[in-house]
Amino acid sequence: MAIKRFETGTRLSMAVAHGNTVYLAGVVPDDYSLDAKGQTEQILAKIDKLLSAAGSDKTKMLSATIWLTDMRDFADMNSVWDKWVPKGCAPLAKEGHRVTVIDRQPTAASETSFANAGLVAPGHALTWASPRAPKILWKSLFRDDQALRLKLSADPRMWAWCLRFLGNCTEAASRRNTTRKLGLCVYSQQALQALVAETGLQYDRQEGGLLYLHRNPASLASAIRNSAILRDNGLRLETLDPAGCARVEPALASATAKIAGGLYCPTDESGDSRLFTLGLAELCKTLGVAFEFGTTITGFVSAGDRVEQVLTDRGKFAADNFVLALASESAILGRKLGLALPVYPVKGYSATVPINNHGGAPTLGGVDDTNLVAYCRMGDRLRLTATAEFSGYDKTHRPADFGVMLATARDLFPDAGDYERASYWACLRPMTPEGTPIFGPGRHKNLFINTGQGHMGWTMACGSGRVLADLMAGRKPEVDLAGMLYGTA
Ligand SMILES: Cc1cc2nc3c(=O)[nH]c(=O)nc-3n(C[C@H](O)[C@H](O)[C@H](O)COP(=O)(O)OP(=O)(O)OC[C@H]3O[C@@H](n4cnc5c(N)ncnc54)[C@H](O)[C@@H]3O)c2cc1C
Repeated sequence: MAIKRFETGTRLSMAVAHGNTVYLAGVVPDDYSLDAKGQTEQILAKIDKLLSAAGSDKTKMLSATIWLTDMRDFADMNSVWDKWVPKGCAPLAKEGHRVTVIDRQPTAASETSFANAGLVAPGHALTWASPRAPKILWKSLFRDDQALRLKLSADPRMWAWCLRFLGNCTEAASRRNTTRKLGLCVYSQQALQALVAETGLQYDRQEGGLLYLHRNPASLASAIRNSAILRDNGLRLETLDPAGCARVEPALASATAKIAGGLYCPTDESGDSRLFTLGLAELCKTLGVAFEFGTTITGFVSAGDRVEQVLTDRGKFAADNFVLALASESAILGRKLGLALPVYPVKGYSATVPINNHGGAPTLGGVDDTNLVAYCRMGDRLRLTATAEFSGYDKTHRPADFGVMLATARDLFPDAGDYERASYWACLRPMTPEGTPIFGPGRHKNLFINTGQGHMGWTMACGSGRVLADLMAGRKPEVDLAGMLYGTA
C-alpha cells in the first residue's frame, strides 16, 4: 500500500496520498488581518501548491468542507471560490458553520421525536384541514373521542389557531396545502435517503412501503377520492382489496375479514426517529458540533433587526446566526421576539410493545385509517400511536388513553407482541393550521425559523434541515416554499 506524506510535522501532514487519492488537512490563512476575500485567496493558493506537490490539481477535487466563522462573509468567500473552481469540476461542498445546539433535555430526541409512529409517509401527506374537518371537530366537542379530542379552554391562542384552521378547510385551500406539503415530504424523503446512504445511520429502518387500511367500503371509497391529489402529483398509491393487503403484509392474513381494503404506497418507509436523531447527534459531534444539553432557553437579546444573544438558565450564548426549532415552544419563545408563529401543540399518544418471540408482528408500517391508529415495527418493538388532542401544553397520560390503539392492534395483529408489557408516552405535535411548516428569517435577519412540521415532522425533517441550510447560506432552496416562509401563509 503506497502512502506519501507532504509537509509533514510532528502532529499532522498537510497532505497524504494513498493510492490514487490525495487527502488534504484543513488549510487556514497565514494572515488573519486580511478580509474574507483575501483569506480565501490565500487558502486556495496554499491548496493549489499542496495538490501540485502531490501530483494532482483542483480539476480532480471530489469534496470540500468550508468553515466560516461569520456567515456575513459567505458572499465574499464565494466570489473568490467561484472564480477558482474549474468549470464543470465543482466538488461536493459542505458548509462548515460552528454550531452549538441548546436543548433543555439531557439527550437529543427526548420530546416529540422520542416515540412517534416512525412513518416516513408522503403517502399520508393529506392536510388535516379539509372540508370534512369542521364536522369532525364539532362532533369531538360532545364525546370523549379517542381519535380527536378538543378540550374547551380559555386559551385565546387555541381559538385563534382553530379559526385559522377552519379558514383552511375549503376544498381549494386543502388541495393547495396538501400539494405544498407533499412536495416537501417527497423532497425530505430523498434527503433522508441521501443522508443514510452517505452516513450509514442505523435506526431500525424498514423500506418497502406503508399500508393505509380501511375497515369499511365507505371509508375506503372516501380515501381513494381524497388521495387523488397525491396521485395527481405523481405519488404511486395502489388500491388493494383485503387479500391484496395480506399479500403485501402477511401478518394481516387472519384479519382480512375485518378490513375493506387499503391504499399501499410502495415508496413510503419507516424507522425510529429517536435512534436516527441520537445517531445524527453523535455524527455531528465528530464534525465539531457542540451540544449544550440540560439548558433551557428563556429569552433573547436583540438590537434592531439582529438577535445578539440567546438567554438560558445556564447563561448567555452569543452567535452570528440563530435557529429557532423548539417545536411547540417556538411559538411561546418566538413571541418574545415579536414573532407571530401559528404553531399550536396537538397532543398524541404512543405505546411501544415488545415483540419478543411472537410471530405475528407486521413487517411494514401503516395506519388503520378508520380508527386513526398508526403502527410500525421498529426492530423487535411494535410502535402504536393515536389521538389528536387539543389540551394545551400538558404531556401527561393515563392508561385509558391507550385503550383504542391497543384494541385496534390486537384486532389486526393478535400475536404481534406482549401487549401487556407495553411502555407508554405522550407528546405534542407542533401543528400549523395549514399543515405546512414555517421557515426563514422573521423580524430579525439572523434568526432562522424551522418549526411547525406537525404530524409529519419525521417525514419532513431532513428536507427541512436542507431548506434551513440553504436559507442561511442565501441559496435558493431546491423545493418550492410557497406559503412556508414566515408571514406568507
Ligand atoms: C404520537 C405522535 C406520532 C407521530 N408520528 C409521526 C410519524 O409517523 N411520521 C412523522 O413524520 N411524524 C410523526 N409525528 C410528528 C413528529 O414526531 C414531530 O413533528 C417531530 O418530532 C417534531 O420535531 P421537532 O424537532 O420540531 O420537535 P422535538 O423533537 O420536540 O424537538 C424540539 C426540541 O426543542 C427542545 N426545547 C423546547 N423548548 C425548549 C427551551 N425553552 N429551551 C431549550 N430547549 C427547548 C426540546 O427539548 C426538544 O428537544 C408524530 C408525533 C406524535 C406526537
